[in-house]
Formats: sequence, structure tokens, C-alpha cells
Amino acid sequence: MFYLLNKLIIVLIPIVPKFIVKIFANKYVAGVTTKEAFNVVKRLNKNNLHCTLDILGEHTSDLKQSIAISNKYQKIIQNIEKENLDCNISIKPSHIGSDISDDIFKKNINDLLESSRKYNSFIRIDMEDSKLTDLTIKTYNNNLEYKTHLGIVFQAYLKRTENDIKKLDDNANIRLCKGIYNESESIAIKNSEMINKNYLKLLEIALDKNIFVGIATHDEKIIYKSLDIIRSKNINKNKFEFQMLYGVPMNKIVKELLKENINVRIYVPYGKNWYDYSIRRIKENPNISKYIIQNLFK
Ligand SMILES: Cc1cc2nc3c(=O)[nH]c(=O)nc-3n(C[C@H](O)[C@H](O)[C@H](O)COP(=O)(O)OP(=O)(O)OC[C@H]3O[C@@H](n4cnc5c(N)ncnc54)[C@H](O)[C@@H]3O)c2cc1C
Repeated sequence: MFYLLNKLIIVLIPIVPKFIVKIFANKYVAGVTTKEAFNVVKRLNKNNLHCTLDILGEHTSDLKQSIAISNKYQKIIQNIEKENLDCNISIKPSHIGSDISDDIFKKNINDLLESSRKYNSFIRIDMEDSKLTDLTIKTYNNNLEYKTHLGIVFQAYLKRTENDIKKLDDNANIRLCKGIYNESESIAIKNSEMINKNYLKLLEIALDKNIFVGIATHDEKIIYKSLDIIRSKNINKNKFEFQMLYGVPMNKIVKELLKENINVRIYVPYGKNWYDYSIRRIKENPNISKYIIQNLFK
């Protein structure tokens, strides 16, 4: 039933008027301008939530634009410090030039890392589809001199991830997520139970290597099982945090975590590309359409 509904929504969504899409996108996107996004961050900070800001967009094909986006992120890093926000940034390689050339991407990421060092900030490189996995890992490993300012993401659905995490430097900083792109069966686990099993296995491997883990999931079972693992291994609270997407209703569990003084970080996307982001998320993860429709008619 939900399968058919999801398929139907995917077919219909491109013809839904933009102002209607905006109604449900507003829940998941923190506005169009940096000022709007900063206001959301301030509100979340007041509720003891850490944040990471993401300017929506990917696959930049224009050189000038890729530099402009990198400059915008640098300004954000500067203003986060100026406004004393508890917030870091998340960037996508293809947003800051990896589709144009490796050199452009390298230059943009280096500029960002310099800003990050100067303003004592932190950059997390989001993990995009598998065409970019090698480049993203290489970028992380080539910039270990910025280690305290740089983190990477690993996807539990990729079969290669166990090996990738095992090869990581001790004390690395990762976000662990299930993975959102449609990858082929030859490289990705397709069964959701197997992905969940792998997620917890990878979490254990990372924690045993003293790696900082951002446990990025809304899956309550995974959250509680992660807590069991953390407690059984007596992991210090400064070696992990939970991460969730802005707008996903997780109030009850967030309250429980905060009560135990466990850090929670909210991923806050914003920007003029809110429409493309919303549509793509719906297409890439059909389940999201279910949540959106539920929220729309609540
Ligand atoms: C902070 C953060 C950063 C991420 N970064 C990346 C990245 O860099 N690369 C990447 O490939 N993927 C990334 N993801 C996406 C991730 O890989 C998953 O695709 C996504 O989080 C859904 O998986 P889940 O772990 O929440 O579990 P699921 O099994 O998909 O969901 C568990 C439950 O959470 C709820 N839920 C999940 N999503 C939503 C939603 N949008 N709205 C309402 N309820 C929802 C539902 O109740 C669902 O039953 C990120 C996710 C988070 C939370």
C-alpha cells in the first residue's frame, strides 16, 4: 500500500505547485538566507542543541560559482565565531567544485580549512554518491594536519565501509549514517535489516579505534542499541554525539538524550536550492514522502 503511495507521490511531486512544496519544505529547511538559518541555529542552541549548517546545493558546474559558495561558507565560519554560535558546517564536495576538477575542489577545501583553523571551527565533508567516495576519503586523509577541524561521513549501506573505517587514522572524526543514495547491489547492502546490523557493527569498530562518532540516524532502535554499545564499552561522552536532521520529529528521544547530558547535533540545511533539495530527497528516499504527506495533513 505504502509502496504504491510512494510511487504515486514520486510521479506527482514534480507537478505539485512550488508554494505547496514550500509548505512541507519549511519544516525541513531553515529558510533561504543565512540570517534565517542563523535564527534557527540560535533557537536550537537555546535548547542545548549543537548544529551543523549546510548550504543546499550540489554538482556545481561553474568555476566562479564554486568559488562563491566556498567564500560564502568562509563568511559563515567567520560569523559563527562572531555571533558565538554552537555550530559547525557540513559541505558537499560536488557543491564546491569536485565536478569541475580535483584541483578546484582541493583549492576550495583548503581555503575553507584555513578559515576553520583561524576561527576554530569544524568542517564535516558530507558523503555523496559512490562516485565520490574515493575522492572524499582521499581529501580527508590528505588533510590530517587539520584533523581537529575536519570530519568525514561513512555510509553503512556500502560494503566497502568496514574496510574504509578500519584503515582510518585513530582519533578520526566520522559521522555514521545509513546512506541516502540509490547504489547498485554490487557495492551496497539493500536489505534494511542488514544495513542496521552493519551500522552497529561499524559503530563498534569505530569506537574501538577511539574514533569520534556522530551517530546520524532517526532510527530509535539503532539509537537505543548504540547507547547499549556505548555504555558497555564505557565510552566517554566527548567521543560521540547523536545527529539528526532539522525538522524530523525526534523530541522525545532528544529530551532523553539531553537529560543524560549526551550531545545532540541538528543538521540544518538552508538556501535558495530548497526546492531541488526537497524534490531530490523525496525521489532518493521514497519513505520521506510518507513523512511529508503525514506532516502536511496533520
Ligand atoms: C545528521 C544527518 C546527516 C546525514 N548525512 C548524510 C550524508 O552525508 N550522506 C548520506 O548518504 N546520507 C546522509 N544522511 C541520511 C542518512 O543516510 C539516511 O538516509 C537518513 O537519515 C534516513 O535513515 P535513518 O537512519 O534515519 O533511518 P530510517 O530507517 O530511514 O528511518 C528511521 C525512522 O526515522 C524516521 N525518519 C527518518 N527520516 C525522516 C524524515 N526525513 N522525516 C521524518 N521522519 C523520518 C521515521 O520514523 C523512520 O521510521 C544523514 C542523516 C542525518 C540524520
